[in-house]
Amino acid sequence: MLPNAPPVSNQTLREYQRAIHQHNDALINDMPKVEMHSILNINTRLPCKTLSELKSTYRLLNDLDAGGVDGGMERFFDLYYGGFNVLRDEDDFYRLAMNYFQKAASMNIRYCEPFFDPQGHTRRGIAFEAMIRGFQRAQVEAAQILGSAMEHYQQALPYRYTIFGIGLDSLKVDLPPLLFEEVFRRARSDGFKITCHCDIGGGGGADRIDHGLHAVDDPLLLQKVQERDLGMTICPWGYLCYSGEAEIISRVRTLYNAGIKMTIGSDDPSYMEDIWLNNSLYLLRKVGDFTNYDFLQLQKNAIQMCWAPAKIKAAILEELQHFWARWETQRPST
Ligand SMILES: [Zn+2]
Repeated sequence: MLPNAPPVSNQTLREYQRAIHQHNDALINDMPKVEMHSILNINTRLPCKTLSELKSTYRLLNDLDAGGVDGGMERFFDLYYGGFNVLRDEDDFYRLAMNYFQKAASMNIRYCEPFFDPQGHTRRGIAFEAMIRGFQRAQVEAAQILGSAMEHYQQALPYRYTIFGIGLDSLKVDLPPLLFEEVFRRARSDGFKITCHCDIGGGGGADRIDHGLHAVDDPLLLQKVQERDLGMTICPWGYLCYSGEAEIISRVRTLYNAGIKMTIGSDDPSYMEDIWLNNSLYLLRKVGDFTNYDFLQLQKNAIQMCWAPAKIKAAILEELQHFWARWETQRPST
């Protein structure tokens, strides 16, 4: 790790962003993947059906400058909650989810467990049912349309959007996970999996931790994660883009080398400059010297960590192993 390295300059971040947007890395693109850390959120490519819809969307977003980097995490959450305003009815949630599923399919993501934030919407007066119905319509349609392109794994293409788990998101500074223990306990007894979207400790009883990169700074915490064999979903671009800390990538490397069961997610591409899963993986190639074998290992971890039924996990793992064997024969790997 680099002690007290100066922050990464905006210019360097722009250079990384360009490189990881434009990459054409065949292994990363073609490898079958699992993504568990992507938030269904207003997307800059959200299609508008009419000119007046486009105008009203523009008016809603006019005050928001959705361009990361400056302002840190506080700024991120201003944008994040401000952007919710463009999601109003079932159709909006349907299109939001479809947009993600289409993007995921184009990146060879075989299974995904995206997050959504119901409280951010219900407090604006949006009915919970409108969200769920929109997501479910997209789930069913995506399974039909996108699934048909990959006949040999039809049963393993669960672009399903059912609620699998309950988590915690946003800034945890004033709201430690302990405050939500009651909800988590109830959710667990009702059969849900638990994940905790947090960066430091906390998350008593969680099955998985989303973020948590700073665990590498605390050997005791790292040991705990190892002992409990907790999976971690790490989103390197979000950290780098909003904190500018030079140590981010070496932290990811330390976590990986420590044998923690971790995988990579895109977090929130709408507010993180259109950086999706494949781009985030390429960031690790470019800046973190991750090898082909490391990418294979990250996907194996992801398959283990996800909450898919065993049959689906086995099918994706088999596809991944075939993919790797083919790759090794055609292009000996690093
Ligand atoms: Zn996140």
